[in-house]
Amino acid sequence: MSLDYRDVLGEGGLISRKMPNYESRAEQMELAGAVDAAIRSGRHLVAEAGTGVGKSFAYLVPAILHAVEDQNEPELLAPESGGPAPRRVVISTHTIALQEQLFDKDIPFLNSILPYEFSSVLVKGRSNYLCLRRLHAAESRSNSLLSTDEEIEELNRIAEWSRSTDDGSLSDLNPQPAGPIWDEVCCEQGNCMGRQCKHYKQCFYQAARRRVERASIIVVNHALLFSDLAVRSAGGSILPQYDVLVFDEAHTMEQTAGDHLGISVSQGQITYLLNRLWNARTQKGLLALSAKKLAASGGLTVSAPLFKEAVSKARSLVEESVIRAEETFDDLKEWLYARPGSNGRVTEPGIIRRNLEESLTLLAGALYGVISVLSGAEQKMELASARQRVLSLKGELTAWINQEDPEMVYWLEKIQRRRGETVRMLAAPVNVGMLLRESLFSKVKTVVMTSATLAAPTNRSLRAGTPPAPFDYFLSRIGLTGALTLLVGSPFRYQENVTLIVPKNMPSPREGNNASNAVFYDALLKYIQETDGGAFVLFTSYSLLTRTADALVGRLARLDYPLITQGKGMSRSQMVENFKTDIHSVLFGTDSFWQGVDVPGSALRNVIITQLPFSVPTHPLTQARCEAIQLAGGNSFYEYSVPEAVIKLKQGFGRLVRTAADRGIVVIMDSRVLSKSYGKTFLRALPDCRFRQD
Ligand code: SF4
Repeated sequence: MSLDYRDVLGEGGLISRKMPNYESRAEQMELAGAVDAAIRSGRHLVAEAGTGVGKSFAYLVPAILHAVEDQNEPELLAPESGGPAPRRVVISTHTIALQEQLFDKDIPFLNSILPYEFSSVLVKGRSNYLCLRRLHAAESRSNSLLSTDEEIEELNRIAEWSRSTDDGSLSDLNPQPAGPIWDEVCCEQGNCMGRQCKHYKQCFYQAARRRVERASIIVVNHALLFSDLAVRSAGGSILPQYDVLVFDEAHTMEQTAGDHLGISVSQGQITYLLNRLWNARTQKGLLALSAKKLAASGGLTVSAPLFKEAVSKARSLVEESVIRAEETFDDLKEWLYARPGSNGRVTEPGIIRRNLEESLTLLAGALYGVISVLSGAEQKMELASARQRVLSLKGELTAWINQEDPEMVYWLEKIQRRRGETVRMLAAPVNVGMLLRESLFSKVKTVVMTSATLAAPTNRSLRAGTPPAPFDYFLSRIGLTGALTLLVGSPFRYQENVTLIVPKNMPSPREGNNASNAVFYDALLKYIQETDGGAFVLFTSYSLLTRTADALVGRLARLDYPLITQGKGMSRSQMVENFKTDIHSVLFGTDSFWQGVDVPGSALRNVIITQLPFSVPTHPLTQARCEAIQLAGGNSFYEYSVPEAVIKLKQGFGRLVRTAADRGIVVIMDSRVLSKSYGKTFLRALPDCRFRQD
């Protein structure tokens, strides 16, 4: 008899028999039931489930039962039956922390209690694996490829590690190698000889691919998932076929899709690739080829002088491209500086000369000339892969300069380098919905999108008399219609454990306004003292964070509250570790602390939201998205800005309570939640807790 999700998650089920303290939760059963129904009916599901529902088991159990269902009917698996192929489920997460929780804890646990055989695998991108062939090639050419003794030592360390590592992936190599060295030895798209490779049997990447092919449960991150979708639209694939996709932490879906389906080109990227080919200063690189040696070993199909000529042409085109790249980015900088106060958005094609594109096209031709007269397959492949990257960078440049896609928004962003300021060329789809519909929703039978923060009312549901439509905003952003939806709250007792505080008439802190800033700083300090530290203070801008930190650092020190500030060179995980070690700590964070940071227990007792988290309205992408809504007759403030900020506020609020025992206060120091008509939308979206107006 086959099992049902209730037999696993319910009272007296398989989990409770193994975990004595396990309590079946109504919210979890509801979510599991919805996932099960979506899979069975081949429909998509959007489900918000509050903190503590036990989301991962709620989707893993029905997903695994679906993947192993054929084990109840073995004849379906027999090839002669002509039955369906084995089922596969992909689970995608935004954060590494969730990926680790699923892969190291939840899935092994379910594997130990379910009476079925199933294998799971964590898929990493190709460039995470060592390529043994490239490693050997780099070792034998280290003198012409690498410039310093340190680089050669680093290569030796990787070679030594390659003899003992089990999976040959970057995360197994400690400390992590320098990027440029790893780039010389990692697996690359278009640079693998497959079965022709003499290292094929020992190859780490090929072994990982075989594990993926055999697995029924595949865990990936959103970045890899969207890369797979992009590769699929070009006819290839990174992941094998799957019929169910569970998208956890789905509130980041629009942003991650935009990042991966857009364009990003910097001068550093171009120079790095060109220097890998040929560095005129160090005389090293892939084009540091000796005609004499190659001719002597039979590595050429033409005479040594002819080959020398081809190489020298390619080298000079590399040098020329470096100069053209410099000029191009100077032109772009100049274009931006000539428009002070502009947000960097570029709305007309052809704002710069095309010298770099021309130079890269000539370089690709010259590289082809070198490749075609080499006889060694390995050397050919290495150069061909670099040439392919030259062409794809050139393609991105052309697409950006010509503004080829009317569905994209194009802009320039300033970036700081050691040698001063430069710019990056960026483009992103205004509407990822259309792309997701084409590449995902119409191709995969069931996509389950879940998170603790997906619901946010839009204008339509805010207008009096219309019934609430909690997922209107999310569905419209991802281009989905007709999906099943579910909204389940948290089983935690917010009424008993959490007080939401909103000070009335709190002035907005502004640069140069000393009077209002003083009120803001005093209030902030008062709320930090209310819980004796243990506070996350969340900012919407780095400049407000630094001004506030400068203003309060002395007062916090005198009160013995260690201040941990983002942007001082400490990693996010190190900041969180330091925060946990002193119960009185105060952490000032921006964007990345609003979500994905987990501090369960009493270390975090207070979350202070300094301002409502509206996106900067002048950012080119936000601006273009708002324009598109206005053009379609909508109201971009209520249909985009407010719901987007509501979801972010829910994320920030959610930092406080991670377990049933967590308690504390959340302070929203932005009086607009009381004074503005849209303020209620923010307050209503938060869990039902005690409320205090100061
Ligand atoms: S099979 Fe491909 S990835 Fe593996 S060692 Fe050979 S070339 Fe590298």
